[in-house]
Parts: sequence; C-alpha cells; structure tokens
Amino acid sequence: MSEPTHDNTNLLNTMKAACRDTLRCMQCGVCSGSCPSGRHMAINIRRLVKKAARTVDVLKDEQLWMCTTCYNCQERCPRNIDIVEAVFSLRSIAVHEGIMLPEHGRVSGLLIRHGHAVPIDDERKKQRTELGLDEIPLTVQSCPEGLEEVRTLLKSCGFDRLTGDRDKSNAKTETA
Ligand code: SF4
Ligand code: SF4
Repeated sequence: MSEPTHDNTNLLNTMKAACRDTLRCMQCGVCSGSCPSGRHMAINIRRLVKKAARTVDVLKDEQLWMCTTCYNCQERCPRNIDIVEAVFSLRSIAVHEGIMLPEHGRVSGLLIRHGHAVPIDDERKKQRTELGLDEIPLTVQSCPEGLEEVRTLLKSCGFDRLTGDRDKSNAKTETA
C-alpha cells in the first residue's frame, strides 16, 4: 500500500466538510455491538471511528474494507454520526490516495476487461450448454459493443486510473 498524502488535519477537514464528523463520537460502543460483520471478522467499527477522528493512518486500516454497509450501526448511533457515509468517504479518499486492497484491484481489472466482476468461466459455460442454454448469457460478455461502452464509462469517470488498471483496459478477454 502507498503512503497517504493527506495529513491528519487535512483528513479531518475533508471529513468535516463532508459532514462526517467522527469527533462527535463518545465511544459508547453501540455501533460495535450492532455490527454483524464484527461477529465474523476483525472489524471493530467503534475503534475505526475513533481512529478516523485522530489519524490519517485509518486510510491504511484493512478494517475499512470489512464493513458490508448494512447500516445497523448508523441506525443506532446515539450521536447520529453518519458512520457508513464516513466509511464510504474514507474509502473514497483511500482509493484516490492509491490505497486499495490487492483483491479489489484484481476485481476492478476483471470489471474493466469483462464488464463483470465475476466473468463466466469454462466450467459455467459447460454447465449452461448442458442445461440447453446459450454458452454465454446475454450480457456484455456476448456483446462486444456493450463491453466497449462499459469500458468507456469506466474510463470517463477515471475508474481505470484509480484502480491502476489503465494499461490493461484494452487487454484481450480472458477467462477468470
Ligand atoms: S455508536 Fe456512535 S457514538 Fe457510540 S461509539 Fe459508535 S460512533 Fe461513537
Ligand atoms: S454498516 Fe458496517 S460497521 Fe456498521 S454495522 Fe453494518 S457492517 Fe458493521
């Protein structure tokens, strides 16, 4: 992961400007107690909120990517902190800083190359044929013009640049 260019003050100001003021958190723990992801993964949203109010290092914290955005915590926060929106904002800042999990980079590459995060593979093609279906479903995978339109959209919003996949966006279609 690259180092963030944001400093702590800069990050707090950005979050405040986006009305994601995590400084209002009183560390009651209601959010963590409500978090279904926290029961199965290492995410502790209370600690993440605390970190977001203090240090830019939150951008490099893998917990940032473990939230499923179910909104349980946000619904229950007694301080009405927009916790999930804060997570979205932090993720956005992180990606613009070049900080992204390798897995997300790989999935982004698949999206650019195939128009799908989970492109159809040979086994699925075989199963579809056995079921009497077309080998490839009626998606951009069977429509080169549609795939080009998807790529154009992804490029126009800078998705390929942000995900570091700009050099591969014209690569030949490959099986995942
Ligand atoms: S529920 Fe709200 S106030 Fe309580 S710890 Fe979580 S973010 Fe902070
Ligand atoms: S929105 Fe994220 S952090 Fe909040 S309860 Fe759901 S999974 Fe946990």
